[in-house]
Amino acid sequence: MTDCLFCKIIAGDIPSSNVFEDDQIFVFKDINPKAEVHLLVIPKIHIDSLDELSEQHQPLISHMILKLPELARSQGLDDGFRTIINTGPGGGQEVGHLHIHILGGEGLPGFN
Ligand code: AMP
Ligand code: ZN
Repeated sequence: MTDCLFCKIIAGDIPSSNVFEDDQIFVFKDINPKAEVHLLVIPKIHIDSLDELSEQHQPLISHMILKLPELARSQGLDDGFRTIINTGPGGGQEVGHLHIHILGGEGLPGFN
């Protein structure tokens, strides 16, 4: 999808602070962090949101979820982290490419 911000980040057309990448997912730092650690985990294929998922996406979604603890630990979040997925305008989703937020460390809302 050529007009998608996150597809442009995956393609390298827009710079990002990349943390991890494999054949299925791309992980980078949120440009406006809501806590000390704030990552975005996105699929390399364009999917608008959770609303667009079907059975064929099961392996990809499993892969994304299973990677989360390792990604959090790689940022020093050894005692836990928060994940958020916003879906659609009613869920506060601003970028229309499925993403999982990983948040933790100092400044996590509701904690320290
Ligand atoms: P959401 O509200 O769930 O759609 O979250 C979108 C997130 O993307 C927000 O936390 C933004 O700060 C973040 N964001 C927007 N543009 C960029 C960018 N160019 N690089 C990294 N993160 C971005
Ligand atoms: Zn996209």
